[in-house]
Amino acid sequence: MDINYQYVTPQLYRRIREYREEFHRYPECGWTEYRTSWRIADRLTELGFEVFAGESVCGSGTGMGIPEEESAQEYEQRACTEGVPKEVLAQMRGGRTGVVGVLRGSRKDTGDEHCGDRTYAGDRDCEAESGENAEQVIAFRFDIDALPIQEERTVYNASYRSLHEGVMHACGHDGHAAVGLGLAEILSQYRNQIDGEIRLIFQPAEEGCRGAAAIVSQGWLDDVDVLLGGHIGIGCRHIGEIAACSGGFLATSKLNFHFRGKSAHAGKAPEKGKNALLAAAEFTVDAYALARGHDDIRVNVGKFVGGSGRNIIAADAWLEAETRGAATELNVKLCEQMEQTAQRDAGKYGVTVKMDKVGEAQTGESSPELVKLCEKNACEMGLTEGFRKEAMFGASEDVTVMMERVQEHNGQAAYFMFGAPLFAEHHHCAFDFDEEVLGIMAEFYARSVLEKQKGEDKPE
Ligand SMILES: [Zn+2]
Ligand SMILES: [Zn+2]
Repeated sequence: MDINYQYVTPQLYRRIREYREEFHRYPECGWTEYRTSWRIADRLTELGFEVFAGESVCGSGTGMGIPEEESAQEYEQRACTEGVPKEVLAQMRGGRTGVVGVLRGSRKDTGDEHCGDRTYAGDRDCEAESGENAEQVIAFRFDIDALPIQEERTVYNASYRSLHEGVMHACGHDGHAAVGLGLAEILSQYRNQIDGEIRLIFQPAEEGCRGAAAIVSQGWLDDVDVLLGGHIGIGCRHIGEIAACSGGFLATSKLNFHFRGKSAHAGKAPEKGKNALLAAAEFTVDAYALARGHDDIRVNVGKFVGGSGRNIIAADAWLEAETRGAATELNVKLCEQMEQTAQRDAGKYGVTVKMDKVGEAQTGESSPELVKLCEKNACEMGLTEGFRKEAMFGASEDVTVMMERVQEHNGQAAYFMFGAPLFAEHHHCAFDFDEEVLGIMAEFYARSVLEKQKGEDKPE
C-alpha cells in the first residue's frame, strides 16, 4: 500500500522504532514506570514542551491498585541502577508515574476567523472564542505500562529483548509511547503552524484500568476540546487499516477479596477454626454463577491464594477477580452482587471478607463528528479503503474515563484501532507487531492537528 507520509520522514520513522525498542527493553508494570516516564519527560523537555510529572499528573498517590511499598521499592531500586536520578524517583514514587507534555502553538493570531464549523469542537469553541483566552486544547493519550509476563525470548530480536525478568510489553504500549514521542517531534517542529494548546498525556497503569482516573482527577481533561487515542493491533490486522471505536468498550471493575478466618489444628480440633479458604472457594463458584446464561456480563476469578499449610485450617484467602458489562450500569450492578455474595458466603463459615476496588472503567463511544474529520485525514494519507467509521472494541480500556470527562464538558473524543499483523496475540509471551503501524499512527495524529489548522487558514 502506498501511504502518503507528509510528516513522518524516514529519519523520524527510524527514531520512533528506536524509541519503541528502548521501551521494549525496559518494560515496567503499572505505577512503576519510573524509567519510562523519566525518558519521556527528558525527551519532551528537549523538544521544548512544558513537562509535568509526579503529583501534578496523578495526584498524591491515591490511584487504584498501587503496588505495596516493598515491591515498589524493588522496582525503584532497579530504576535507580538504570540511571533514573534520585530526585526524579522521589517525585514519582507511590503511584505518581506518568508524564504530561504541554506545547503552546506559536502561530500568529489570525483574528476570530477560525470560529466556525471548521473547528473540531463546534459550538463550544465559538462560545469560548468570544471569551478572552479561548484557544483549543487538543490532547492525545498514550498508555505506557507493561505486563507481568515472562517474555519468550527466542522470538525477539536481541536488539530489543526485555531486560526485565518476568515483565514484558505484551500489549504494544511500548509502541504507543514511542508514537507519542514521534508526534512530539513533529509538533515541536511545526509549532508555528499551531494555535492553541497541545497536551500529550503519557498515562501509567492502563492494564487493570487504574491510571486514567488518577489523571482525570487532576483536571487534565476538564478543558480538553479534542481527545484522541488508539491501540495497536486490536480489531484490525492489516497495515493501513484504521477503525474508530463507535462502541464495544466493556465496563469493568477489578476487585480484590480478602477472606479472614481463624487457624486451628485440622485433626485434633478443626471445629475451633474458621475456614477462610472454604468460604473463598464457595464464593468463587457462586461468583461465576452470577454471569451464567448472560451474554452481556462476565465474571472471572483469576487468582486464588489461600492457607498456610496442609494440616492447618486456613485462616486467610485472597482472590483477584473482575467483572465486565456491556453497559456501565450492568457492571455496577454485577459488582454490587459480587460484594453481597462474598459477604453471604463469608457469613456461612463465620469468617469476614473485605472487597477492594483496584481498577475501573466504563463503556464509551467516539464522537461521530470527530471521527468524520479524522476519516478525511486517513483518506489523504491514502487509506481510503482501510478506514472504518464504526467498529466495536470488544474489551475494556480506561481511556473511556478520559473520553467521558471530555464529552461531558462538550468536547469531542475518539479512539482508534490501528491495524498491524501480530506475531502472537495481545498478552501472550511472544506478542510482537509489525512496526510499520507506528509511522501510520504518528502521521495520522499529526495530521489531526496540522491539517485541521491548515484548513482553518483557507477562506470560506
Ligand atoms: Zn493490555
Ligand atoms: Zn493495551
